[in-house]
Amino acid sequence: MSYGNIILVLITWIGFVCGCRQVIENKTANIEQQSDEPSETTRAELVMQALHLGYPQEITAVEFRNGDWAVLMHDIWYYYCNGRLLSEDMREEIANYRAQIFYRYTEELPPFVKRPVPEPRTRNNNNNAQQRVSLKRSPFMDDLWQSRDRNEAYDNLRSVRFLGRSIRVHYKIVNILAVVEERILEAAEEDHSIKTWINSLAPPESWSWRNIAATESRSFHSYGVAIDLRPRSIGRLQTYWLWTSQHRSDWFNVPYEERYHPPETVIKIFETYGFTWGGKWQRFDTMHFEYRPEVLILSGMPVINLM
Ligand SMILES: [Zn+2]
Repeated sequence: MSYGNIILVLITWIGFVCGCRQVIENKTANIEQQSDEPSETTRAELVMQALHLGYPQEITAVEFRNGDWAVLMHDIWYYYCNGRLLSEDMREEIANYRAQIFYRYTEELPPFVKRPVPEPRTRNNNNNAQQRVSLKRSPFMDDLWQSRDRNEAYDNLRSVRFLGRSIRVHYKIVNILAVVEERILEAAEEDHSIKTWINSLAPPESWSWRNIAATESRSFHSYGVAIDLRPRSIGRLQTYWLWTSQHRSDWFNVPYEERYHPPETVIKIFETYGFTWGGKWQRFDTMHFEYRPEVLILSGMPVINLM
């Protein structure tokens, strides 16, 4: 992507954010909402515009059609219906589908809040969990990355070197990772702690066809657009909520200083080019980065889009 395109994306993003703000303000004024939460219709437009900006090669149009906001991806219109991303046919059986999560993401690490340990799960809660599992997953993300099954995902992979290690990633993010690596290496020239961090890394985990642990959602590792960067040794530090939960029921109360965090500059570089970092999630995964430009755009963060 040329500098012209980068500037264009930034200008579009600024226009988009200002436009969104305008939409939210108008909506708020019209219906006298007390909360900052956009209405369902406004949320739908924000999500669809963010997807269009985040994946301009794949998602080529966005418009309000047939009563819902929709995006055109690979010749299929996907509609945003009550938080679900569904094609025309799937809209008929909306109740059978689960919502697509575009999680909240913050520019800074959210303030640490100690939380009470919840009561043990009741039978009723387990039934609810069972019900959630039986709902179908929208094929939207599989279609976006053209990885509808393991074989198709495998065909999209390319082996590349990243910070001196070999990884397999989706061919569409190869160039983006090359720029991320270049920026990290530049930063390491200025900051010796980044150089030390690079030298300490274990072989990274990248592609792996699997669901997110304890869920029916496809992990972004399945598409080859997530990467785990972890030093060979992290001592007594914690890095992944699920591992911590094996020996500590209040895993969420592990303070930040007891968690492994990559250098701040490295996190910022990944974010600049469209990756989110799992260290900002409540279910922390501090070694994990995944390519989610739409999540960053929805959170009002600028993204240099190289796709
Ligand atoms: Zn991961």
